[in-house]
Amino acid sequence: MSESLFSDASQRLEQALKYATISEDAIERLKYPKASLSVAIPVRMDDGSLRIFQGYRVRYDDTRGPGKGGVRYHPNVSMDEVQSLAFWMTFKCAALNLPFGGAKGGITLNPKLLSKFELERLSRGYIDAIADFIGPDTDILAPDVYTNPMIMGWMMDQYSIIQRKMTPGVVTGKPVAMGGSLGRDTATAMGAFYVIQALLPKFDRLPGKTTVAVQGFGNAGSVIAELLFHAGYKVVAVSDSQGAIYAPKGLDIPSILHFKNMVKGVQAVYCDGTVCNVVEHQVLTNAELLALDVDVLIPAALENQITQDNVADVKARFIFEVANGPIASGADRILEQRGVHVFPDILVNAGGVTVSYFEWVQNRSGLYWTLEEVNRNLQQRMVQETERIWTIAQDLSISLRTAAYVHALNRLGEALDAKGTRDYYMK
Ligand code: NAD
Repeated sequence: MSESLFSDASQRLEQALKYATISEDAIERLKYPKASLSVAIPVRMDDGSLRIFQGYRVRYDDTRGPGKGGVRYHPNVSMDEVQSLAFWMTFKCAALNLPFGGAKGGITLNPKLLSKFELERLSRGYIDAIADFIGPDTDILAPDVYTNPMIMGWMMDQYSIIQRKMTPGVVTGKPVAMGGSLGRDTATAMGAFYVIQALLPKFDRLPGKTTVAVQGFGNAGSVIAELLFHAGYKVVAVSDSQGAIYAPKGLDIPSILHFKNMVKGVQAVYCDGTVCNVVEHQVLTNAELLALDVDVLIPAALENQITQDNVADVKARFIFEVANGPIASGADRILEQRGVHVFPDILVNAGGVTVSYFEWVQNRSGLYWTLEEVNRNLQQRMVQETERIWTIAQDLSISLRTAAYVHALNRLGEALDAKGTRDYYMK
């Protein structure tokens, strides 16, 4: 990658600025992350040796509320990636009108190579290292790639030990038994499903006549594949890090999920099995999945999957970005010119942070919601903001991505200006 992910992400901001109602001061503020922390985390490994892991936490902006964002465990985690993810969180929270700013964290490692006890020590060590930087009123954590409710539970417990009081609001995506919200585990996919159901009918697309390919079969990808399957869409391909499976007549997603869950049960923490082990399908590479001639493509794995190198191969008519940043900005422009409808990450995958917000509200009020209440509120908010973004796009004749940024920028600009000039130490 020649250009940094963060400068690529920032280009989306540049494109939206000319349509947004926002002052020059506010624009300048939004170009830089507010605070970035880099930490070394010592971990005693099971064999007695000491290993130091590199961790990060970035609070991009907290004008509209405490920073909010997940924690990623992945070998490619870097300050550049964490800054980009925190940037996207800022715009996502504003687009959905959540009272949060944007933040993100991560640790550079392959978590599948650690035992469960090593992972717990690492997760607690990360909280020890960033404890002064986070809090239920300053910066709130959540799961992301290769982190899960169990890890969120350890993190919340460690923070509560440090504070000497139960502090559930510092982390969302916790196990329900530790103050987590019902519906948080399926929220990202559920939110994406509501967006898809609100938008595809505008193009006269009916589920039974719509083929779908999903890249990534984790928390977000597997659930969206299942929801679309049950709604009657023909999900013809799914993939994980090891490869893809393809059946032109449609895959039986529940049985693939059952297999994945069985293996996960045996492995305790991570699912070591792969969708490629399920029979009665063609095996493809992830690159081939992205190039399938399908109606809808759903990248739900990692960023930068569609770039200038492979964008010419993409044949899908509609792309719903469940992953954060799966399309590089150069490729985005080419897709737009070709008339491919791209529905942006900061809207499509915002269901996760929306239910994280509901979890935080429940933790602070002490009153817990039913699953029906969670999903009803999620649907209401996702559909409302989708329609607002759709209207902006139609009124200004701009892409849905630019419209989503304009929508977020208008809210961020208003908040930054309302805050006044104290931060600038003007005479
Ligand atoms: P996850 O760890 O549960 O799953 C990731 C999946 O991607 C796994 O199936 C993995 O095998 C697959 N994968 C990894 N590398 C791949 C590759 N090179 N090609 C194809 N597949 C690959 O993670 P998740 O929580 O489902 O997150 C997926 C994406 O969704 C990320 O971009 C994340 O930031 C975004 N997201 C997640 C949430 C959430 O609440 N979990 C919320 C918003 C956005």
